[in-house]
Amino acid sequence: MDFDIQRARRDTPGAHGVAHLDNAGAALPPRQVTEAVVDHLRREAEVGGYEAAAVAADRIDGTYAAVARLLGCAQDEVALVENATRAWDMAFYALPLRPGDRILTARAEYGSNVIAFLQVAARTGAVVEVVDDDEHGQLSVADLCRRLHDGGGRVGLIAMTHVPTHGGLVNPAEEVGAVARGAGVPFLLDACQSVGQLSVDVERIGCDLLSATGRKFLRGPRGTGFLYVRRALLERLDPPFLDLHAATLTAPDRYEVRPDARRFENWESDVAARIGLGVAVDYALEWGLEAIEARVTALAETLRERLGAVDGVRVHDQGARRCGIVTFTVEGVPCEKVQQVLRERGVRTTVSRARSAQLDMPRRGLTELVRASVHYYNTEDELDRLVAALPASGALG
Ligand SMILES: *Cc1c(COP(=O)(O)O)cnc(C)c1O
Repeated sequence: MDFDIQRARRDTPGAHGVAHLDNAGAALPPRQVTEAVVDHLRREAEVGGYEAAAVAADRIDGTYAAVARLLGCAQDEVALVENATRAWDMAFYALPLRPGDRILTARAEYGSNVIAFLQVAARTGAVVEVVDDDEHGQLSVADLCRRLHDGGGRVGLIAMTHVPTHGGLVNPAEEVGAVARGAGVPFLLDACQSVGQLSVDVERIGCDLLSATGRKFLRGPRGTGFLYVRRALLERLDPPFLDLHAATLTAPDRYEVRPDARRFENWESDVAARIGLGVAVDYALEWGLEAIEARVTALAETLRERLGAVDGVRVHDQGARRCGIVTFTVEGVPCEKVQQVLRERGVRTTVSRARSAQLDMPRRGLTELVRASVHYYNTEDELDRLVAALPASGALG
């Protein structure tokens, strides 16, 4: 497979020097993204924010078009918001849930989503159920079917995180989508860690709602995110907040909510960052998500193998299908210490803690993990640098 790594690295000013293996936290943007953001900020300084936005109207529209191409949906099914959490929240809090309604989720669910489940359960009387894992540690489709068909009460939502923040597995989104469609239950996919590293198509997956962020594997600016809403569901969802952008005040005592997904947005936004997001998405599409996925997945497998060969290192990733997130521990060395030693030696990783993965890590006996997340611009040499820079097991200090 020929992936032009030299070009990818030339486009990435941050790739020289430190080995950036925190792409699941915030990836390094290509210079094209930074230039687009800075250009717009400069124009705002020259002519004011409103004039600058008017001049850039096509580029702003271009971001909706780019996200629609990325996900395989229509532009009017896309809302641009400030991060993935807000995207997910706008969808989740809009769902009509009644007392006794069941929310089915999986072990990989992101901590913020679980907090929202608990809040809404307390408010509405809905109940949260965690679907069992299968033998690979990913959502068990068989258990999901069992719960849908003979578990009692109405199922109001299936909500699943595609790729967990704290591990390399890829949940079986297409299988879950098929089951959700068959049962007529809305399916909300948190694709924050999958968009940008895997090919994610909402038709193929069959999700009704999908949230993602700009700064992770998409390599976009911080403070950007988006929500996909299937058109058939749009008018049935009442956004938790409305303003003059999401709705029109048609009389002193009446308003109409927009018919498109922008009913989940609000008026003011970071226009420069939005433009940068569009550039980041187009840049990813130029490489091709399938080519990106192949390279990222192969690099991560290589890293797992090399880590697995080191004495005292344990790799913790589960899943039959895996992606660019690699998690491990070094026996006898706290994760924070591992991260610090790696940082001092020019390798950037992060630590995942149980509080972001309460449905999963405690029951696997884990309190923390070192997370190394690769992108296509990383090299095998950088993986070797990580392995060579590890503190020896038991090296407390
Ligand atoms: C990072 C993350 C989020 C939150 O994304 P923000 O853009 O920070 O709001 C949600 N879900 C998962 C799985 C994540 O890893």
